[in-house]
Amino acid sequence: MSAENRISIFAFPTRIVFGPGALRELGGETGRLGMKRPLLVTDRGVVGCGLADRVSAEAKRAGLSLTLFDGVSPNPVEQNVFDGLEKYRAGKCDGIIALGGGSALDTGKAVRLRVTHGLPLEEYDDLVNGGEKIGPDLPPMVAMPTTAGTGSEVGRSAVIILKATDRKTVIFSPYLIPRVAIADPELTLGMPPGLTAGTGLDALTHNVEAYLSLGYHPMCDAIALHGTRLAVRNLAAAVRDGKNLVARTEMMMAAMMGAVAFQKGLGAVHSLAHPLSSIANLHHGTANGILLPPVLEFNKLTSEERLRDIAPAMDLDVAGKSASEAADVVIERVRRLLKEVGIPDRLSAFGITREMIPALAKKAMEDGCRLLNPRPCSEADMVALYERSL
Ligand SMILES: [Zn+2]
Repeated sequence: MSAENRISIFAFPTRIVFGPGALRELGGETGRLGMKRPLLVTDRGVVGCGLADRVSAEAKRAGLSLTLFDGVSPNPVEQNVFDGLEKYRAGKCDGIIALGGGSALDTGKAVRLRVTHGLPLEEYDDLVNGGEKIGPDLPPMVAMPTTAGTGSEVGRSAVIILKATDRKTVIFSPYLIPRVAIADPELTLGMPPGLTAGTGLDALTHNVEAYLSLGYHPMCDAIALHGTRLAVRNLAAAVRDGKNLVARTEMMMAAMMGAVAFQKGLGAVHSLAHPLSSIANLHHGTANGILLPPVLEFNKLTSEERLRDIAPAMDLDVAGKSASEAADVVIERVRRLLKEVGIPDRLSAFGITREMIPALAKKAMEDGCRLLNPRPCSEADMVALYERSL
């Protein structure tokens, strides 16, 4: 894509409170937003590891009256949104604090939407330009990530499995961006190695896929390359030693940069990964990590130069190499990273079978992310990519 004859609209609007200990700013930030009775949207895992208690204590210290909703599923479904809304109304809430990984943050956004927007959720589906039906009159929201992966705290989308579409449905609007992201890497210190690896691979994939995607957005391109650098330098360290606060901090930044970068668009990795979660319940970031090398190989045909650009961001020396050779070095580095963080590079290791592929490929074609993949992909391509990842 080039800059000729093109008008583009860019925005980097999120207020971000970032760094170890940022949780202490919760009272100040909710105060600025006029929140007194927030709904805390989270899941049982976050409650179980004590993080919800820490946030509740901070909220209490700030004089907030908190209502807890911990009913978010690992891959959130619309019933979670309706249940959350019920709690919101019952608690007479005036805003939302979402605490958790992408599931809790996205559900928080969808509950927030639901407070003032009553159409069936499928009408807000990005694939039918549903974002145009979303106005600015949403209650305030503070997003607090407890993983370093989705970057949903700075993103404009909520991904929810809806009954009517029977797939991970993307609801996309600038009004869904949380008013404040409080990104405190201390909240990720207790994350187990497997989840650290899976979520971190999601962050890496966002940066890499955004860089390759067809959207025109040089500002996002620059962010994507540095986000890639932070992820490649720090993910294995964060997996090896969960208490490494420097690695945790850099990964949290890499995750936010990935989500900012994918304002530009994503690609086939995400279209292939989404059905693996909705049909086979595979962790989103783990699915991305496994699919990334084969999709990069597939995209080499159209994107050698762009793949070569990624080499320096991965601290790879490709001087004297052709674009094709440099692209191979980049893809090999991703494979090596998977090994370093202990994620098997085959979908079959997670119970995915050949028989599941036709249904998965059909769903992947319905997913909008693929539309900005640099190389167009047909259903047969999707089948082939699943087979190569099996
Ligand atoms: Zn993702």
